[in-house]
Amino acid sequence: MHKARTTCPYCGVGCGVLAEFEGGSDDPSARRIVGVSGDPEHPANFGRLCVKGAALHETLGDHGRLLRPRVDGREVSWDTALDAVAERLSATRRDHGNHAVAAYLSGQLLTEDYYVANKLFKGFLGTPHLDTNSRLCMASAVAAYKRSLGADAVPCSYEDIEDAELVVLVGSNLAWNHPVLYQRLKVAKTRNPLMRVVVIDPRVTDTCEIADLYLGVAPGSDARLFNGLLAWMADRRKLDNVYLKRHTRGLDEALEAARQDDTSVAAIAEYCDVDAERLETFFYWFASQLHVVTLYSQGINQSSSGTDKCNAIINCHLAGGKIGLPGAGPFSITGQPNAMGGREVGGLANQLAAHMDYHTPGAIDRVTRFWSTASLTPTLPEQPGHKALELFEAIERGEVRAVWIMATNPAVSLPRNDRVRAALANCPLVIVSECVANTDLMPYADIVLPASSWSEKDGTVTNSERCISRQRGLLPPPGEARHDWWIMTEVARRLGFGEAFDYHHPAEIFSEHARLSGFENDPDGEGYRLFDISALAGLDRAGFDALAPIQWPVTERAPHGTPRLFEDGRFATPDGLARLVAVRPAAPQQPLSESRPLRLNTGRVRDQWHTMTRTGRAPRLMNHRAEPFIEMTPEDAERLGVEEQQLARLSGAGGDYVGRVRLTKGQRQGELFVPMHWNDQFSGNARMGALLEAYRDPLSGQPEAKHGAVSLEPL
Ligand code: SF4
Repeated sequence: MHKARTTCPYCGVGCGVLAEFEGGSDDPSARRIVGVSGDPEHPANFGRLCVKGAALHETLGDHGRLLRPRVDGREVSWDTALDAVAERLSATRRDHGNHAVAAYLSGQLLTEDYYVANKLFKGFLGTPHLDTNSRLCMASAVAAYKRSLGADAVPCSYEDIEDAELVVLVGSNLAWNHPVLYQRLKVAKTRNPLMRVVVIDPRVTDTCEIADLYLGVAPGSDARLFNGLLAWMADRRKLDNVYLKRHTRGLDEALEAARQDDTSVAAIAEYCDVDAERLETFFYWFASQLHVVTLYSQGINQSSSGTDKCNAIINCHLAGGKIGLPGAGPFSITGQPNAMGGREVGGLANQLAAHMDYHTPGAIDRVTRFWSTASLTPTLPEQPGHKALELFEAIERGEVRAVWIMATNPAVSLPRNDRVRAALANCPLVIVSECVANTDLMPYADIVLPASSWSEKDGTVTNSERCISRQRGLLPPPGEARHDWWIMTEVARRLGFGEAFDYHHPAEIFSEHARLSGFENDPDGEGYRLFDISALAGLDRAGFDALAPIQWPVTERAPHGTPRLFEDGRFATPDGLARLVAVRPAAPQQPLSESRPLRLNTGRVRDQWHTMTRTGRAPRLMNHRAEPFIEMTPEDAERLGVEEQQLARLSGAGGDYVGRVRLTKGQRQGELFVPMHWNDQFSGNARMGALLEAYRDPLSGQPEAKHGAVSLEPL
């Protein structure tokens, strides 16, 4: 039996995994992965795994895998498929312009895949329309960090959660969605009896098991709550005025905005629909404790005012000086394994490359010179492209006429996926890179490219605490599946860009990515980017293979990485000062109505991941929740005329969802919860995304996935 280090491909905790394999110590084709265990040396998990991670080896095998390329429904050779991709992309650009071409990527891709995609589409195909399903996950958190701290940079480490005296969880069911982090918090709380945990969430979840205080807030009321906390701190002289003066700007404007509403505890409690005494207890605990970590996730981000909600939280940390210290900071927890790695290379439509936005001083010229694209006509786009929802609306309008979708399934995951499906059906060219043979997306694909998967792919991912880890290629891809970076490189060669895409190993791509992060990146100069891993640029294949987990920035000044940011009180803004942001709370955009009177909340279940293409293969993971369901209170069930286990149909903005009723005291009255995972492959009619209108945050573009409006019909 042999063991190899790799990283879990599921959530943003990014646990280290020891994959145990038999046979083929020198010959990967003779290997079989027979078990997995937690890597005791990985700083994310120190040997722990959750049930999903522990079942990884049960999800492997060729069954159901996409094994050969297809063009127009026929299996073809790779040469034919790659020629077709290159020819049809070229024809689209020739006939309709560069901006008629787009890519839609995924937080499941490795950083090296992301880098090649970003370089190919923005740098060489000349289109800004490259976005990712990470838009659905943490785009609001990113926009808020940038507004406030000057960079898309999570200030804390997981260790800070353990070192905190108060941990506030807002819109995060950590116990189910980031289970190993929850285990770490639980152990830390046992070790430190003085540690307090507050859970702020409309639903009573398993995370509440360790809560000292639970606030079951009305959906969408978070910004008013944190604005109220800011005003409460100011009124009771609980602000850190020295810190505010030295390191921040914007307090007066933020307070003025907060005070546009009644900031009495009674008024805020009424608005948030929580007990006033409990609310003031939270305010007191937050204000009187320096070592506070506020963890927030999709419950905050997936909102039409998600960026403001994140900023309302960050405001309170800045106002109390609770940042840049051990056990302190506003900590956005990422959903996907490599949402952060994708952002590092610039894999969002509003980014250019390597944490440079289009408006970053000198960025377009700098990236043009680095990628040597100046001889191309036209060169880099100069304006941001379409964010996820906008991208599919542009396809719907016929403006984008060719889209390459990699490792994600927008036909299931996006709101109004009925419209997404119709748009794809009318799109002249849909290219899909996938591991799985049959997904809901395949009927819309003109060209299908079989991609490698976890245990086959080789590269890096970055988790929620900025830690870059290796995913290692241990098995050969089945059939004719190939790595995503290889597929794009071959297309680039056919398009005449071979010199710029002369990659033969992911180590070469990582090295170029690391060099770009440090290219003309002067810590004391204009356009300084906090994301810098230039100290890793010289890694050869052996060095890349041996790369141990490390937190960025990794520079000459910080060769061993950077566990905590902003310790010196200097932020990544041009003047070094953090910004408190004036936040005006806004209600969810999706209104309830007579025909759709029930508020819908959505989320994950403990043992499934995304559209279940991997976790759905492990019987023991299916045992936890075997079917799509609808959770509601017993009182609502009685009022609506349904019983436990009865089938019911929900009707929403773009379709129906059929699930089995589950009764729980954990819901608020008039509110339902459905899981996000099921799709046509696993259930005839349970696509959560079809129920949701495509509302979004105007700054981040993140969809409002936590606030649907539906009606219910007993079946
Ligand atoms: Fe994988 Fe997340 Fe579970 Fe860790 S907590 S084993 S990263 S799913």
